[in-house]
Amino acid sequence: MTSPFLKPLLLGMALSFFYTSLQAELPTKIHLPDLGDSSGRLISPIQEQALGAAFFRSLQAQLTLNEDLEITHYIQSMGQRLVAKSDNPAAPFHFFVVLDKRINAFAGPGGYIGMNSGLFLLTEAESELASVMAHEVAHVTQRHLYRAFEAASRLSIPMAAATIAAILIGTQDPEMAQAALIAVQAANTQYRINFTRDNEQEADRVGMQTLVEARYNPRSMPSFFEHLQQSSRFYGRGIPEYLRTHPVTVSRISDTRGRSEKYDYRQYPNSMAYLLIRAKLRVANADKSETVLNYFKAKQSLGTPQQRAIARYGTALAYLKLTQFKRAADLLKELTQSFPDQSHYVNALAQIAVEAKHYANAKRLYQQGLKRFPMNQALKINYVKALLKMGEPKRAKKILETSAHDFHKRPLYFELLAQTYADLNQMAESHRYVAEYYYQVGNTQTAILQARLARKSKPMNRYLKAILDQRLHFFKQEMRLKREK
Ligand SMILES: [Zn+2]
Repeated sequence: MTSPFLKPLLLGMALSFFYTSLQAELPTKIHLPDLGDSSGRLISPIQEQALGAAFFRSLQAQLTLNEDLEITHYIQSMGQRLVAKSDNPAAPFHFFVVLDKRINAFAGPGGYIGMNSGLFLLTEAESELASVMAHEVAHVTQRHLYRAFEAASRLSIPMAAATIAAILIGTQDPEMAQAALIAVQAANTQYRINFTRDNEQEADRVGMQTLVEARYNPRSMPSFFEHLQQSSRFYGRGIPEYLRTHPVTVSRISDTRGRSEKYDYRQYPNSMAYLLIRAKLRVANADKSETVLNYFKAKQSLGTPQQRAIARYGTALAYLKLTQFKRAADLLKELTQSFPDQSHYVNALAQIAVEAKHYANAKRLYQQGLKRFPMNQALKINYVKALLKMGEPKRAKKILETSAHDFHKRPLYFELLAQTYADLNQMAESHRYVAEYYYQVGNTQTAILQARLARKSKPMNRYLKAILDQRLHFFKQEMRLKREK
């Protein structure tokens, strides 16, 4: 999937951190001990991380993954809060949102846990969302993906990753499904990873423990299962993918209900962040902006001051989507004045200014925002985007260089670097980062083309030349492994 930002570019200061982090991802065949190995592991932790990273790139090629850093930040904080109270707090985890209306959540190798926006919007309380995440975290810590690893062990890492991805997301792409089927047959295993009933029970039990210790409401687990069951009645095209891989039965609901009721009852208020992110996703997911606008407008004068603020925020975002900038900005100005500690409002107000092409105003808002919230990555990156639109690539580059380390493997980071260097007329670097972008989104073929373009660009220094040769070699090796059965 090419992002709209890169389209006009389509044609890379070596940063050494990037290369060290990629060393672990060299796609080698997974050689592994027998099932009876005393460690109980089918693949080593390093291989599992490589498989996880390849799995994530495979997803990028097929799904639209969220790139909004406010959403990313929220889902990662919730995930880490749960992991800290799980059976394996030291294990690496990566949480992300998939922009997809279908109801699904999944746990892949390497602790990559994805949550569809459709599932997020089905939750009626923050603890319900946490209960799904805790369940998925438990699948990982209890190593329920064993069968997937068993299949993977007979394939190269890129092939195994693509196969697991196709299975977990119930791919709609017939070519991909075909490839997955062939690969799985080659690996002599069954097509779908259905967790067994024992796996499900264990993930519910362990997940609830985690939920309670992370101070979320255990009663949310059975109540979410009920929403899930109800939602499946309205599903025209068969049951949600999530129910295929995690079947919800009557006994499962009653078991979790019984267990949850052993805990004392108390109130678990939703965090402001949950409500804001849910409003944002609701606007993003809406088929018709008018419908979502009316939904939030109707709530503006209802409930607590907090609920009314959320309704105004949702209304403003809907106006923004409808390009009614003045109305959107008026609402957000009020919100930023009433709630000066809420970065989401500042961010939205600045974004409106950008879209309305009021660049000087946008610049002032981002600068003020960053003074107030200096660690806020969403503000930082949105400021970079705005600077590029304003024709200030030098300043954009400076800010990208100080962005958080965990941002550095994301496609958006490479995309912004590519654009920045193109604007600075440094085409070798620009192509280099376009290549990295395509590699991250699972399109290695185009990554090779871009790396070759970079290699031919002038001027070329020895340092960059060495890097590009190494990357070309790496990409080609991966292409070979992808073709392997
Ligand atoms: Zn499950």
